[in-house]
Amino acid sequence: MIHYLVGKFSRYKLFVWCVMDRVKIYVDESRTAFVACSKCGKSRELNFSGKEVPHASLVTCGCGNKFIVTFEKRQYYRKQLDAAGTCFVEGGPPEGTPVRMKDISFGGVHFTVPGGHSFELNQNLGLVFRLKGETVRLNVSVRNTGGENVRAETTAMDEHSRKIIGFYLLP
Ligand SMILES: [Zn+2]
Repeated sequence: MIHYLVGKFSRYKLFVWCVMDRVKIYVDESRTAFVACSKCGKSRELNFSGKEVPHASLVTCGCGNKFIVTFEKRQYYRKQLDAAGTCFVEGGPPEGTPVRMKDISFGGVHFTVPGGHSFELNQNLGLVFRLKGETVRLNVSVRNTGGENVRAETTAMDEHSRKIIGFYLLP
């Protein structure tokens, strides 16, 4: 990484690089990723189809904010699902917010929030949904958002949930 940076940037740019906001996002098999501005939250889609996914790139938002996005290739096998779920947020409604689970892996989830949401990057959420007739509970951290879509990294799950997800992910 350091080698990459030094090769590409002058000392000044390297300094700017160090003090700028940084956002890590996951690029999936379709080579698209949503990235949200670290200041105003406005999101845009980045598309790398037919291109090499870079290590990082500088994004300038319409609001004037410049920030760095580092790209990480998704490292877990994931599988689609279509299940109702509930999302819990600290300070949110005690009954939770209805969500629709779209895909899952050991590393994270993709779900949609009908009518949109106001989740922020790195916000911690609790998710509860049914998978193969069993209840799965996850703690996740928001990584990408775009419209109703939320992609989040799993930060904790209990043994039972791990087992159920493991069965579900079997080819
Ligand atoms: Zn912005």
